[in-house]
Amino acid sequence: MKTSLCRICDSSSLEEIEEFTALHQVTSDCRPWSGGGHLVTCRSCGTVQKPHDERWVSDCRAIYSDYELYTQSSGIEQAVFEADSGMATTRSEQLLQRIAECVSIPRSGQLLDIGCGNGSFLRVFGSHAPQWKLWGSELHSRYRQEIEKIPGVERFHHGPAEELPGDFDWIVLLHVLEHVPNPVQYLDQLRSKLRTNGTLVIEVPHHIQNPFELTIADHACHFSSVVLQRILTRARYAVESFADHWIPRELSALARATDVRKSVGSPVEEASAAASIVRSRVRWLADAANLARQSADQAGCPIGVFGSSIAATWITTELDSSVAFFVDEDPSRVGRTHLGHPILTPKRAPTDVPIYLALPRGQAETIALRLQTQNPSLNLILPPEWNEEEP
Ligand SMILES: [Zn+2]
Repeated sequence: MKTSLCRICDSSSLEEIEEFTALHQVTSDCRPWSGGGHLVTCRSCGTVQKPHDERWVSDCRAIYSDYELYTQSSGIEQAVFEADSGMATTRSEQLLQRIAECVSIPRSGQLLDIGCGNGSFLRVFGSHAPQWKLWGSELHSRYRQEIEKIPGVERFHHGPAEELPGDFDWIVLLHVLEHVPNPVQYLDQLRSKLRTNGTLVIEVPHHIQNPFELTIADHACHFSSVVLQRILTRARYAVESFADHWIPRELSALARATDVRKSVGSPVEEASAAASIVRSRVRWLADAANLARQSADQAGCPIGVFGSSIAATWITTELDSSVAFFVDEDPSRVGRTHLGHPILTPKRAPTDVPIYLALPRGQAETIALRLQTQNPSLNLILPPEWNEEEP
C-alpha cells in the first residue's frame, strides 16, 4: 500500500486493520463493490479511515459516476423505525424534531443544504419554517426540477458548495462529511459561508454502533463521538449539541463557528483504544458473515435477508448470492427488487427458509420480537454479539 497521511491530523503513523482486506465492500448507494479494500486507524488522533491513496480516489470516481439515491424505494427517503412500536417516520422529520428540541429555529433565515439529494430535508424544513429561504447544493443536477419545486427553495446549485455566493444562517451536512476527503479543511473553509451565530448541522454514521458502515468503499472517514467532536474543534467550531441517539446508529451535531483555535489533545491511549474497537468490529463483521454462510449451508438453499440497505447488500455479497429474497418493513420498498431478489413483507415471507438479520445484535433482537408478532412462524437467525463499549 502506498503511504498516505491521516485525513485529520496529517500524521503518517497509520495502522492497517489487516482483517478488513478479506471482507467485501459495498457503495453508499447500496451496490456490491470489490473486496480487498484497506482500512486504517491513525495512531495520533484515533480516526478510522480509508487511506487517501490513488485506489480510493479512483474507486470514488467510479462509484459517483453512476450513483443512484434510494434505488430500492424509487427515490423515497429511507424510513426510520421506532425500535419497539415499528412506527415509521422519515430520517429528516425525526432529525428536525430533535434539533427543534435543542435550539429555537428563528422565524426566518437562509438555509443551505449541502448534498441535498432529492430534497428530503429541504421539504421537511420548509414545511416547518415556511418563511425561510432555502438553497440546495448537490454535485449532480439529477433532481434539479424536483428541488426547485419545493416551497421556499430559492436556488439549486449544481457543483461544489464552496463556489456559492453569500452566506447562511444554517448550513446542513446530512451524510456528507463521511464522503469528504479532508473533513477539517472542508469544515474550516465552510466557516466563511456561515453567518455570525449561524448553525452548522451535521449527521454522520456511527461506525461503532453500525460496523456495516465500515464496508462502504466511498466513505473516507468513519466517525465515533470523540473523533467527530475533535474534528469540529480542529476546524474552529464550538459544539452546541451532540447526540448519538437522535437517529439510530448515527451521530448528530449542532455547532457554531468560533474564532478560537483550540488545541486538540488526542492521547495515545485513546487512539489505541479506538484501534482496538475498530479491530473488534471488523472481526465481528467477519463472524456475522460466517454465521450467514453457515445458515445457508445448513438450510441447503439460498436464505432470506432482513433489510434492503447497506447491511443487507453487504451480507448478500458475502453470501455469494446465496440469497433468495429480502424482507423489509418499509412499504416503499416492498414489492420492488434489490440485487435481483424480491423484497417481501414479514407477513408474506416464507417460513421454511431461514431469514438472517444483518444488524447489530441488540437491534436484531428488538426487530425479531416485532417480526414474530407479525408472523410467529418466521425462522429468524440473529447475528453474533459483541461486548466492547465505546471508550
Ligand atoms: Zn490522525
